[in-house]
Amino acid sequence: MQNKEDYRALEARYYMPAFSRDLMLVRGEGSRVWDADGKEYIDCVAGIAVCSTGHCHPAVTRAICEQAKRLIHCSNLYYVPGQAELAQKLVEKTGMAKAFFSNSGAEATDGALKLARVRTGRKKFVAFTHGFHGRTIGSLAVTHKPAIREPFEPLGIPATFVEYGDLDGLKRAVDADTAGVVVEPIQGEAGVIIPPDSFLEGIREICDRSGALMIVDEVQTGMGRTGKWLAIQHTRVKPDIVMLAKGIASGFPMGALLAREGLEFRKGEHGSTFAGGPLACAAGLATFKVIEEVLPSVPEKAERFRTALSSYSPRVRGLMVGMTVGDRCAEVQKRCAERGVLVNCAADGNLRLVPPLVISPAEIDRACAVIRDALS
Ligand code: PLP
Repeated sequence: MQNKEDYRALEARYYMPAFSRDLMLVRGEGSRVWDADGKEYIDCVAGIAVCSTGHCHPAVTRAICEQAKRLIHCSNLYYVPGQAELAQKLVEKTGMAKAFFSNSGAEATDGALKLARVRTGRKKFVAFTHGFHGRTIGSLAVTHKPAIREPFEPLGIPATFVEYGDLDGLKRAVDADTAGVVVEPIQGEAGVIIPPDSFLEGIREICDRSGALMIVDEVQTGMGRTGKWLAIQHTRVKPDIVMLAKGIASGFPMGALLAREGLEFRKGEHGSTFAGGPLACAAGLATFKVIEEVLPSVPEKAERFRTALSSYSPRVRGLMVGMTVGDRCAEVQKRCAERGVLVNCAADGNLRLVPPLVISPAEIDRACAVIRDALS
């Protein structure tokens, strides 16, 4: 392994500079990671809500290695080992009817937009301010942040944005050509913004009245992150389409689209070379089992974060924690890293913690002590 400075120079020479980064992580185990200098961190970023089973969970690593020895890829021209089993598990836990896999969250969003268009025959979408749904041309059309969307316009998908929480605005924005309303049940990239249940229930009603589909983006909130398989399961709302990714396969690239009864792609309408391949499904099945085991512990861990950070008015739903820190956010992130805790600044000066679901009470206490120190 080269040292970080050499690596930085190599990257500057050969890799497109789309990211700003400083640390170089080389190893992980559970909720801990180590950088190239051997420094240890408690990881409250977890690859941005991806490594929910912790880093290199032995059951996940074993499943990937064993599958890699049997069959790495075979194409969706054939039945894929593990694909139907994982679909069954996701459908049963979420109350949806059918699944379709993708390679990422953005691709899951693209699939959702396609499914909504092809089954409703309508063209337009409504999404919300500060919402994030991905960076492909399709998913970007419903992603709000002008700085990342506008340079790539026109995107070819007519979408309008309504203030997150504004049901009257949504009523005005939805019309007879609206195929779907795309919403995060908790906004993640915006900094863990938790709406009242009445907002999500109101969207359901507006969709029911207009015939638009309710498309719930659970890419960040799904797979147990909030203490239930889906964040929408904290409410009484039944969505038409759900997107998953991030935590679904412990870091092996994978996403999924779930749809209610009666909504599905028909032959030839959608596809992908890699999506739902044998390795991803093996990682997904192993991940599913670990999450099933750890899920009951999430509410207690959430309370531990809430109590330990109570002076800073945290927004907590399961192991998704946001705190408004303001301009100091980057400095707080840096100070935490210096003291061995990784946290991340989401939008608008909001500190975001999305640690592995397997984080231990002792690790929570240690991380919160460092965060309090950095904030004080
Ligand atoms: N949707 C939400 C809510 C997300 O948080 C993200 C990524 O942060 C995406 C979609 C896009 O997922 P991906 O980066 O896997 O394309």
